[in-house]
Amino acid sequence: MVWYQAMQRFFKGLAGKPVRKRKGGRDSIWLTRELFELKQDEAGGWKLFIGKKKNNIGFLSFEAHRDFQLPASITISRDNGQYFVSFNYEDPKLSEKTQEELVLELAKLPANELMEKAVGLDCGVIIPVQSSSGQSFDFSSEQKKTIERKQRKIRKWQRRLARQRLGSHRRNKVKQSIAKAHRKIAEIRRDFAHQTTRTLVGKKDENGQVIDNGAQIFVMEDLKIKNMTKSPEAKPDEQNPGHFVPNQAAAKAGLTQKILNSAWGLIAVFLAYKANHAGKVFIKVSPRFSSQECAKCGHIHPGNRRTQSKFVCQKCGHTANADQNASEVIRKRGVEEILKQATHGTWESARGGTRKTPRVSKLKVQTLRSENRRRRGSNSELIPGSLPL
Ligand SMILES: [Zn+2]
Repeated sequence: MVWYQAMQRFFKGLAGKPVRKRKGGRDSIWLTRELFELKQDEAGGWKLFIGKKKNNIGFLSFEAHRDFQLPASITISRDNGQYFVSFNYEDPKLSEKTQEELVLELAKLPANELMEKAVGLDCGVIIPVQSSSGQSFDFSSEQKKTIERKQRKIRKWQRRLARQRLGSHRRNKVKQSIAKAHRKIAEIRRDFAHQTTRTLVGKKDENGQVIDNGAQIFVMEDLKIKNMTKSPEAKPDEQNPGHFVPNQAAAKAGLTQKILNSAWGLIAVFLAYKANHAGKVFIKVSPRFSSQECAKCGHIHPGNRRTQSKFVCQKCGHTANADQNASEVIRKRGVEEILKQATHGTWESARGGTRKTPRVSKLKVQTLRSENRRRRGSNSELIPGSLPL
């Protein structure tokens, strides 16, 4: 899994190519639909293109031994120098409609109905997740205590580690303890993400059917764009010279930002998956100035955010809890995004709803022929053996 994530990061150009430490007899990578494309040439032969436009890895030619449908994801594996591609199909239990179809259906509704069906989610430091419907999601006090305790221990062990001799038995034991504490924290984050998304999408009845809770559209900020790691710089307050607009730095003392960031990341992934499973829609919107925008009149100004928790619009006077206001702004952006589809009709669906399922067909990948190589630039060709497995 870690390997899969590293490859995803690599393909998106976020990180360098991950290095595989263990050279096994059979290595494999799993690719979701955004990272591959299947094309058929005039002669009827199939090509599997791997990577994205910006980070093109190359392609493999293959012969289809039987008819197949477009897979949700693929697994490429190499066994003794030979490549195999297996197609993974979406779980048939999942929503029969794609996110795209659901969005296009919703786009026919008027804005006020969409607003009723939409739930905006604001990710914040004081309240980890605030929904526009008024629900706040936070770690339980038990979970917080455990995380803090583990973090203290990790710091202590790391100091100890620095003094210990490399490769010593005691040092290895300390390293194991640190890894175990990290695992515990990760487990808590995961639990929190599951609980939160389950509540949002709707609990299931005894038949496994999601009980309708009225929420049909979930809107979150695009966390990739949102600057999540750097603590915000103090900004001078234009209307109040000599003063600074309050920022969140002080609030970051509790649960560290890193833990919140990865909890949000998990929530986005789980929500995309669970929403699709329930026939609901998950949308990411731009996070730009969402905390400074008035949910009532749309006025954007840093001065609207008087304190960490209070929002007062400088134009219309709308006063609200800052996170609540932000979640409503996010909800509005999501609805606007859906309404755009009514005119454009194209939709890049949020990823989700694919699940690795048993192999349906297995295709033997042929080695590249020289004429195939000529057709594409040398940078993008896949030379047998060069696939980063
Ligand atoms: Zn306003």
